[in-house]
Amino acid sequence: MAKRILIVDDSKTVRNLVAFIMKKEGFKVIIAEDGLDGLEKLYTEEKVDLIISDINMPRMDGFTFIRTVREQEAYRDVPIVVLSTEGQEKDIQKGLGLGANLYMVKPAQPETMVKNVKMLLG
Ligand SMILES: [Mg+2]
Repeated sequence: MAKRILIVDDSKTVRNLVAFIMKKEGFKVIIAEDGLDGLEKLYTEEKVDLIISDINMPRMDGFTFIRTVREQEAYRDVPIVVLSTEGQEKDIQKGLGLGANLYMVKPAQPETMVKNVKMLLG
């Protein structure tokens, strides 16, 4: 069965691009527009195998989103990939410290994204 990826980003352009890349690899994608929407989708969708999340978003940013996801037993092991324009070491450390498995800085090469996602789902 196709693995399901939740893409959380307030940029429609990024959401569509990442969704296109992942669909091409045979993944099913679920789209969310910010952290709050991401949580809602996580709670209502039947299954999410991996999350790709932005950091800078309205309503709920990626740091809060990741922390909230990781606080819950049910989602402790869901791989989380950050995809953000924030490439400073302090942001990377914060993201990883909150429980992200991987931190990618935009713009990321599609091949790199796919390789990393497959590795984490492996
Ligand atoms: Mg953003």
